[in-house]
Amino acid sequence: MKLIFLGPPGAGKGTLAGLVSKEYGIPQISTGDIFRDASKRETELGKKVKEIVGRGDLVPDELTVSLVRERLAQPDALGGYILDGFPRTIPQAEALDGFQGIDAVVNFTIRDEAVIERLSGRLVCRNCGAIYHIKNMPPKVPGVCDVCGGPLYTRPDDTRESIANRLEVYRKQTEPLIAYYRKKKLLRDIDSSKSPGDTMGQIRRVLGKPA
Ligand SMILES: [Zn+2]
Repeated sequence: MKLIFLGPPGAGKGTLAGLVSKEYGIPQISTGDIFRDASKRETELGKKVKEIVGRGDLVPDELTVSLVRERLAQPDALGGYILDGFPRTIPQAEALDGFQGIDAVVNFTIRDEAVIERLSGRLVCRNCGAIYHIKNMPPKVPGVCDVCGGPLYTRPDDTRESIANRLEVYRKQTEPLIAYYRKKKLLRDIDSSKSPGDTMGQIRRVLGKPA
């Protein structure tokens, strides 16, 4: 099963990709991992990527596509995969169409307000990195980590304003892709506002049980 996952920050895309990967026995492939991996290798492409990422620039479409293409030709991806973070642009999507037949594009949907509530209530332990939620998963003692007793704090990225801004950026960037795959009848909208278990139930109904 060859899948693309789309979803705004806070939709739980990473967690769900992990669950689907395990249950369906297909690797989760992200451009972040591909770039890191390429940078470690001393190939021509790898050196180029290392330099671009090191400068803090975006890796150009053509180079990204070459690397994804290389990655999808690895033996573990031949039976299917979950693409996370690719394609990001229409030229990338068109290039992908040139060498891979995608089975479905899973589009995780969640209301902005729900994302803001999810992320803005997040508390992180400064000491061990454990994550809590002010409402859904509060620590036993307010402000104190259950695991290590360290102090909890809110990341600067998790303020309402910053989250709203990230959602807007995501929407602008992704809308053309959603339209592109909807037109091809590959888009599958999945409501991810409830628990990962509930969302997995929907995914099984839409994709079918693993072979
Ligand atoms: Zn802790």
